[in-house]
Formats: sequence, C-alpha cells, structure tokens
Amino acid sequence: MRSSRDLTAELQAIDGKGYGAYKGIAGSYDFDDFALHIDYVQGDPFASPSRLRAEIAPAVAGLPAELLQPRIRRTATADLLNRRLYTELASISRPRGTGKSGRIRILRPGQTILERTSLEIDAAGQITARFTAGLPARGRRVLGRQAIEMLTGDIPVALRRTLAPASADLQPLRRHAQLAEDSAALRDQLDERGLVAFIPRGAILPRRSGVDDRPLARSEAVIFQPPPPLTVTLEAPNSGPVVGLGIPRGVTLIVGGGYHGKSTLLRAIECGVYDHIEGDGREHAVTVPGAVKVRAEDGRSITSVDISNFITNLPRGEDTAHFSTANASGSTSQAAAIAEALEMGATCLLVDEDTSATNFMIRDARMQALIADADEPITPFIDRAHQLYRELGVSTVLVVGGAGDYFDVADTVIGMRRYLPEDLTAAARDVASRFRTDRRHEGGSWTPIRERRLEPASIDARKGRKPVSIKVQTPTRVLFGTEELELSALEQIVEEGQVRAIGQAMVHAAERWLDGRRTLRAALESLMTEVRDGGLGVIDSRQIGDYAGFRIYELAAALGRLRSLRARPSD
Ligand code: ADP
Ligand code: MG
Repeated sequence: MRSSRDLTAELQAIDGKGYGAYKGIAGSYDFDDFALHIDYVQGDPFASPSRLRAEIAPAVAGLPAELLQPRIRRTATADLLNRRLYTELASISRPRGTGKSGRIRILRPGQTILERTSLEIDAAGQITARFTAGLPARGRRVLGRQAIEMLTGDIPVALRRTLAPASADLQPLRRHAQLAEDSAALRDQLDERGLVAFIPRGAILPRRSGVDDRPLARSEAVIFQPPPPLTVTLEAPNSGPVVGLGIPRGVTLIVGGGYHGKSTLLRAIECGVYDHIEGDGREHAVTVPGAVKVRAEDGRSITSVDISNFITNLPRGEDTAHFSTANASGSTSQAAAIAEALEMGATCLLVDEDTSATNFMIRDARMQALIADADEPITPFIDRAHQLYRELGVSTVLVVGGAGDYFDVADTVIGMRRYLPEDLTAAARDVASRFRTDRRHEGGSWTPIRERRLEPASIDARKGRKPVSIKVQTPTRVLFGTEELELSALEQIVEEGQVRAIGQAMVHAAERWLDGRRTLRAALESLMTEVRDGGLGVIDSRQIGDYAGFRIYELAAALGRLRSLRARPSD
C-alpha cells in the first residue's frame, strides 16, 4: 500500500496536467491511523464525483463491545457515526474549482435508523466509510494543491474527528444504540401481545411540513395520549416499561372529523416498521414488520397480478387472476397493491381513505340496488377486510371519515378528536346496530393469491453501452436503464438511499435469484437473507456508499411497477 506522502507527491506531480492524470491516483493509501481507498476516479470535473472509502481499524476506532453487539446496536452506532460524518463532510465541502470540484458528500440519513453502505461497522469494530469527492480542477486542468489540501488535509481531519470518537462522545452513541435496541424489542413484543402497532404516550406524531419529516415543534403539537381502554404497557430492555396505545390485531378503523389527525396517526404506524432517531417524536412507536401501506395509483403498470378476489368479470373479459395493464384504474391499482403485498407475505394492511379508490372501498345499498351484480366487477374491500383477518390472519388499519358502513366489519374503532385518540369501539357498535345499512355482503370464498415467477430478462437496466444504469431522479423516481420508474406510491420508502438500493437490488435479483423457476417471493426472500447475512454490499460489487436498508415489500412493489416486466404465474 502506498503512503499518504506518496499521494501528496503524486498530486504535486500531476498539478496542471489534464484531468485524465487523476486516474493514476486510484488505489489505496496508508494514513497511519486509517486507510484511504480511492475506488473510482471521475473522468472530468462535471462527471459523478470520485468514490472514496476509508477503513479505520478497531483499535483506532475504539468502539466498546456494547456498541457492537447485538447487531441492532452496531447498526445504530454506524447510523449515528454516519450522521456525524455527514455534518463534518458538509462543513469541508466547498467549491474548489470547476464543476463539482471540491464537493464532498456522504449519504444523508433521515429520521430513521437504517443500515447503510455509506458507513458500516463489522463485528470486530472496524469502520468503513464510503463517500464521494469531486477532484479539483480549473477547466480540465488538475488543481494539485487543492487536491492535496482536500485529500490529505480536510478529509483526514473529518474522518479522525468522527470515526475515532473520544470517550466523551461515546455516551450519545450508547443512547442511540439503546434506543434502537429498545424499539426493536418493543416491536418484537407486538405479536405475543396480539397487537399490530404501538404508539407511546408522549409521542409527537405531526411533522413539520409535507416536505420536512422532522417533528412539529413541541409547542405547536398536541402530545399523544393513549385512551385508557386501549392502553398497554410494553417492556423496553433499556428504558423500562413504556405505556401507550396498543392497536390490536383484526380490523381497526381510525375515524374522526376532517383535519383531526387521522392520517397523521396512520403515517406514524406506517413508519413504525423502522426505528426512529432520538428527537423524532416517534421513538418507541412501532409496527409489525409485515405492515404494508397500500393505496390507489391510477396509471401504474401491473404485470400478471392475481386481483381476482377483488375484481372479476371485467367488461372486456380480461383474466383477473393474471391481470396485466399498462394503465391501471384506481380500483385495479389498489387491488393489485394489496395482492402484491399479500403475495410477499404482508401481515397487516394500512389503508387511508385519502389515497383510496372509493369504489374499491365500498359499494353502498343504494348502489347495489341500482347496478346489477353482473355489471359490477368489484368486490369492495369492506367485504374482504374481516375475511382477510379470519382466514389469513392479515390485519387492517384503515382511516375512514366518510364510510360508516365499515363499522360492521371493525373489531376496534379509534376516534381522533383534536389530535387525541379515543376508543369508540362500543359507540360504533351501538350506532351500527341502530342504523342498519341494508347493504348485501358481496364476495364468496377467498382464493389464495397466485404467486408469480418473473422473467429475469425483462428486468433490464442497460442504457446505451452501460450494462447497468440506475439514476435516482427525484427522491421517489428512478431512471432504471431507459425506463422511468415512479415509486412515490411506495409510501414506506423513507430515504433516497433506499430507492438507490432497490434499483440495484432489482438488477441483483434478476442476475442471481429470479431464475424463472423460483417464485418471486422465494427469490426475494433469498435475496433478503443474502443481504442480512452478507450486508447491503452484496447487491453491488463496486463498493458504493449509496445504499440504505430496504424491505422485501418495497423491492417487490418496485419490480411490479416496471413497465417492461414479464411474468408467468406459478400454476
Ligand atoms: P385528517 O387525516 O384527520 O384529515 P391529518 O392527520 O391530515 O388529519 O392532520 C391535519 C393537520 O393537523 C396536519 O397539518 C397535521 O400535521 C396536523 N396535526 C396532526 N396531528 C397533530 C397533533 N398531534 N398536533 C398538532 N397538529 C397535528
Ligand atoms: Mg386524512
């Protein structure tokens, strides 16, 4: 391995030369207390910045064992170090010439604690940080002095400050690790307590704005209080008993007047599949891992999805057991979202009337009287919700402000009034018995969702001469090869790094697991096991620090939205 002095000498030697001379600095350098790897050198100052990787040995990093084991603690420690390094690198990132010269970046964590390839810690305590830097140039000429300052001065200082934490910095790391461990433990308790979600007393659920996921200021927020009949106490290993709202299995309605906080509560439940950082307001708010938000998304592409439990007898006779369309309607898209979630093993559906197709959710008595059954392809969700729970054990949490017919199928009714929950189960039951809806139950028995096998060749990220081209265009849209893949309907994606990872995992799935024989679910379960065992890096051999941990549901849903996708049913 070359030394840091070698790097300085090399940069001095190429000062003023053409940009291509930078190619020679690719490789590894020993900085005594860490190793710096220049894994990829950009071709010009406007191209994607160069990729750097730092490795800090366990002895230098000095992370105590309690921050490394069990794995959840290590993930949390890496998460917090990533946050610190993000801040440090942002403070040394500045224009140092033309184009992206001097721009230094590492993946930016959001409100959740996730695994990320930008900062990994192995079981022995070795830290690997992956970030990018624009190598300085004026026009196309190497700015050697600036490069020396950046690569051998500013960056090493930032790395040492963050990744070899002084003992004083260990306390926040400890708290972060304990918090993550606590939420994971609370999530683990849901099942045995017969719950699908838990929101602790004192939580702050509203966010600052539709584009800012941080909590609303405490002074402006109504602090969460669980209603007594639904109050439970769970046990966190580090912080002890936690009191809060327990949402039971079965069908739960969240009702209430407009603007009283229904969707905000559901959003907290959606996000409870992740562990939140301290100060988020939703610490200890947890949801079963199999909870999937489903919504309508007209215009989306659907490939060979079995929506026959919800939709049959379409006017043109389409086969709804293997339903494909390039332009879904509101109801077919919502049916497909549910079928895709169930195909992957979802255990709880999260539905908001705000983003649902009305005719998918309900058909009332008057409409039943007017439109003959033979002319209505849809079995509305109201007639399947409780069956899903009884027969498949799949719960639903549903926000409804308009359709009181749902009282008939609810096990629990939570009312939101001025942002506070109350237990309206008995009241809703009483209303249901006094005001009969006279609607006829529709839909017969449930047919198991037919699983798909995807044709790997139809998952193609090639573009021009590039074998794989994946570009994240907005936080929720990715250019996958030549296809624009819109993922904004996957509302449980919370970070851009997840979108990048999902794009790359699609390619990896096609190469390694979707062999045309395995079902989609079996293939993606194998991929998720591979990721769990080998780390997120297994989806890409190129040492890229752009990836954040994702779930099988969003990966499958992303694949399912690919317009080029071809599939064949399993039976
Ligand atoms: P609904 O779905 O019942 O119509 P929302 O959940 O969309 O209502 O909430 C309406 C508004 O109130 C949103 O701007 C939201 O941020 C805000 N809000 C929700 N919960 C709280 C709370 N606990 N404290 C303060 N504001 C809140
Ligand atoms: Mg709403």
